Amino acid sequence: MTHDRRGHVTLVGAGPGDPELLTLRAIRALRQATVVLVDDLVAAGVLRYVRQSARIVHCGKRGGAVSTQQGFIEAMLVAEALRGERVVRLKGGDPCVFGRGGEEVAALRAAGVPHTVVPGITAGIAAPAEAGIPVTDRRWAQGVLLVTGHAQPGHTGPDWAQLAQTARGGITLVIYMGVTHCADITAALLAGGLAGATPAAVLQNGCTPHSRRHVATLRTLAGEVQRLGIGSPAILVIGDVVRAAEAMQEGEISVAHPKPLAAIA
Ligand code: SAH
Repeated sequence: MTHDRRGHVTLVGAGPGDPELLTLRAIRALRQATVVLVDDLVAAGVLRYVRQSARIVHCGKRGGAVSTQQGFIEAMLVAEALRGERVVRLKGGDPCVFGRGGEEVAALRAAGVPHTVVPGITAGIAAPAEAGIPVTDRRWAQGVLLVTGHAQPGHTGPDWAQLAQTARGGITLVIYMGVTHCADITAALLAGGLAGATPAAVLQNGCTPHSRRHVATLRTLAGEVQRLGIGSPAILVIGDVVRAAEAMQEGEISVAHPKPLAAIA
C-alpha cells in the first residue's frame, strides 16, 4: 500500500456561533487536525475540540486588506499540507457562503493538495430560524436570496433596484454584511419600489448568548439599527416572512437561549 505523505486540508464550517451547532463531522475533523487556521467569526468554544498539541493560527481579516491576506492564507494552507500536516481551515457558518471557500478550494486544487469540505450551518438561515423567522415560510415566500450588503473592492455591489422587484415577487432577502450600510441598502430598496411597510428584522450575534433581534419595517429599520447601536455581525431579513416572528410585534424578539451542554465526549 502506498502511503501519501502529503497532508490534507479540510474546510470546516463552524456554524453560526453556539458550538452545539457544529456538525459531528466538524468535530471529528477538529480532533484530527494538527494545524487549525481560524477565522474571526468562529466562537471560542469551538476550539475545545482541537487537540492540545495542535497549532492554532488566528487569521481574522475583519476590515483588513482582503486580497493580500487571502492570498497569504491560501499559500499557508498549501504549504502546511505539503509539509504533511492535517490542516483544518475553520470558518464561521458555512465555508462556501460568503466564506471564500470556493477560492480556497481552487488554490488547493491548483496546488494538487487533497482537500474536503465540511458544510456548516449558515448564519443567514440559522439566526432567523432561531428568532422564529422561517426564511421560506410558504405562507409568504417562494424562496430566499442570500446577498451581501458589502461591495467587493472594484465591484459595484448588488443591484438593489432589481432586488426590490425580486422581493416584491415573494422572495425573502437575507442580507449578510449589511448592517453598516443598512441606511443605504434600505433607501435603495425603497427607491426600487419595495413598500416601506415591508417587515424587516435585524439579527445580531445570532445563535450566541449575546444575540439581539429586532423587528421593524423597511422604512424604520435603519433608524432602529442606529438607535439601538446594532453592529456587525448581523443579518438583515426583509420580507413578509418576518411576520412569523412572534405576532410581528415591532421591537425586540426575545428568545430563550439554551443552556450550553457539557462538551460532547
Ligand atoms: N460563512 C458565514 C458568513 C461569513 S460573512 C456563514 O455562512 O454564516 C460574515 C457575515 O455573516 C457577517 O457580517 C454577518 O452578516 C453574518 N454573520 C455571521 N455570523 C453571524 C451571527 N452569529 N449572527 C448574525 N450574523 C452573522
